[in-house]
Amino acid sequence: MHANATSCTVHAEQPATSALPDGPIARKEPNEAHYATWSVLESVTDPEIPVVNLREMGILRAVRQTATGLEVVITPTYSGCPAMSQMEDDVVNALATAGVAARVLTQIAPAWSTDWMTPEAREKLRAYGIAPPHPSGCGTAGVNVIQFASKKTAASAELTVACPQCGSHNTTETSHFGSTACKALYRCLNCLEPFDYFKPY
Ligand SMILES: [Zn+2]
Repeated sequence: MHANATSCTVHAEQPATSALPDGPIARKEPNEAHYATWSVLESVTDPEIPVVNLREMGILRAVRQTATGLEVVITPTYSGCPAMSQMEDDVVNALATAGVAARVLTQIAPAWSTDWMTPEAREKLRAYGIAPPHPSGCGTAGVNVIQFASKKTAASAELTVACPQCGSHNTTETSHFGSTACKALYRCLNCLEPFDYFKPY
């Protein structure tokens, strides 16, 4: 996939130092800690986008051992998202079904960002007919900063939203709010198909 680098606005402030990773989380390997639990959670998908799981969306942040047991940390997408409680329920149910004793911690700070979505999630969104979000800004993950720097000359072209159907950049926003508040409604001027654009956040 290509990096959808957008204009590099100043976003120097890092969220308060946290033990949680600040960026996408790769699929765990069998030799990594709590692999079994991570594997169970691979089956839990986003309530609104059933083709991507919570890890790929960046919602699943950690599986960690605490003094009082195993803890699964999730950060929901938008605090106002109606799917928020469903995500937590889905995680609890998946763990219970698999016989994993763990509690679920819903952490809302630092806030979820579309930058936490994995490259796989972006590809799946596109295949699902939703244009994936541009990076929300600089200063999140170090690797993105490097990408931004090298892609600077292409910044203006990258500001457009590519049609997930035909790939054309000849698109226009028809409504700032699409099927949900998280998305904008676009229309491709090439193939004339309307589509949702997942807004950077
Ligand atoms: Zn198109």
